Amino acid sequence: MPTPAAPDHFDLLVIGAGSGGLAAAKRAASYGAKVAIVEGDRVGGTCVIRGCVPKKLLVYGAAYRQWLADAPSHGWLPLQAEGLRCDPPRLFAAVRAEVDRLHDLHLGFLKTAGVELVPGWGRFVDEHTVAVTDSRGEGRRLRGERILIAVGGRPVRPPLAGADLGWVSDDLFELRELPQRVAVVGGGFIACEFAGILHGLGVEVIQIVRGERILRGFDAEAAAHVQEAMVAGGIDVRTSTVPGAIERDGEGLSLRTASGETIGCGGVLLATGRRPFLEGLHLEAAGVQVVDRRIPVDPDQATTVSHIFAVGDVTDRINLTPVAIDEGRAFADSTYGNLPRRVNHDLVASAVFSQPELATVGLSEEEALRRHGSEGVRVHRARFRPMTQALAKRGPAVLLKLVVEVASDRVLGCHMVGDHAAEIIQMAAIAVGMGATKADFDRTMALHPTVAEEFVTMAS
Ligand code: NDP
Repeated sequence: MPTPAAPDHFDLLVIGAGSGGLAAAKRAASYGAKVAIVEGDRVGGTCVIRGCVPKKLLVYGAAYRQWLADAPSHGWLPLQAEGLRCDPPRLFAAVRAEVDRLHDLHLGFLKTAGVELVPGWGRFVDEHTVAVTDSRGEGRRLRGERILIAVGGRPVRPPLAGADLGWVSDDLFELRELPQRVAVVGGGFIACEFAGILHGLGVEVIQIVRGERILRGFDAEAAAHVQEAMVAGGIDVRTSTVPGAIERDGEGLSLRTASGETIGCGGVLLATGRRPFLEGLHLEAAGVQVVDRRIPVDPDQATTVSHIFAVGDVTDRINLTPVAIDEGRAFADSTYGNLPRRVNHDLVASAVFSQPELATVGLSEEEALRRHGSEGVRVHRARFRPMTQALAKRGPAVLLKLVVEVASDRVLGCHMVGDHAAEIIQMAAIAVGMGATKADFDRTMALHPTVAEEFVTMAS
């Protein structure tokens, strides 16, 4: 159990009040540790302030476009001829207000947990000391018996001429107006999610993807299904297209591709990846090793300095909120709670909140084939129009897919594209994590009529 510490001395000093840092700080404090958390921005980190939470609210806002369009087919008729119109500034303002509420909630959680919040940016002075400078330029020195680095990541601007003229995802949450036309660069999570949001809010979207398809790394069939649906829904997805430069063009911008094509637009979103936020930390003063711009850690989250730990995106392993939270809690349980445990980084489910939504757990068909060979893998799939579209008679088909190991009948991967895919795969992840076989899926009674029942009724 930690010993009482003198003022400005802490058992645990956490740098970064995002998902991983907050989870670790509160859990450590619950075991009686004296904890301070240093944060230069608002409390909550990427997920709460400019990531998962406001993004998902915008996804809901954008989805109304389709629901309203389909409402007449379900017997709903507008009372007034003009009906409803989308007012993006109103949606963005509502989302910002919700983020403010969550921020205040997190401040309260820290207070209740007995964690001291130290506002300002932290920088290592030596391996036990962090200097913090707040927004007024005032400084304070904190000493930690242990230090946890949980500073997260930042979006990366690609090396393009005029890249500073483009937005990164952080900027989108601050917009007051949306332009008529936006070019989205990238084919990953953020590009696909924002392409859907912007399109749903009435913006014409051109998505520039340098590869042959979007969502590289996901099951290729599932990714292709999303791409087809995005295109059918009206997003102009241009694959094998490399961005060249962004230039000012009158009131707007133009994105020039490497092949010389020019796309005039009111804004360019650069969604080309994120990188650990190491700037200003002075890790060299503490002797913490950095490899490829990330902080490597051992299975107990320790860096190359045994009393300095790191969790979340700054370690650049699986950059997802629940993973960072679990890493932070595992560190605190092991170090302060006498409950040693390690995070299982296998079988982490993930979802892309594109429209349609893609969710997945386990191996893609390609990865399963690579590991087990074509004789060793069986694929089951169902592709159909869901009942939600029966009356409207439009909208993308859903795809459900199971990747099974022939020898053991074990389900290696479970993939879905369609409404509520993330909610459904979250549950499927329990079964896949427990080693369920296709026979276990088949033995499960269907819940009818649902989309998810196809996972337990797919032909063997
Ligand atoms: P991703 O790594 O998912 O995608 C980056 C995309 O940008 C890829 O399509 C990549 O192409 C492309 N790209 C990279 N450099 C260039 C370049 N110079 N020119 C053109 N294209 C380029 O990053 P994101 O920014 O979308 O997201 C970062 C991370 O944040 C994700 O990996 C995920 O961990 C997390 N995240 C999770 C979400 C969720 O859980 N729903 C939502 C948002 C983010 P290529 O494939 O060819 O390399």
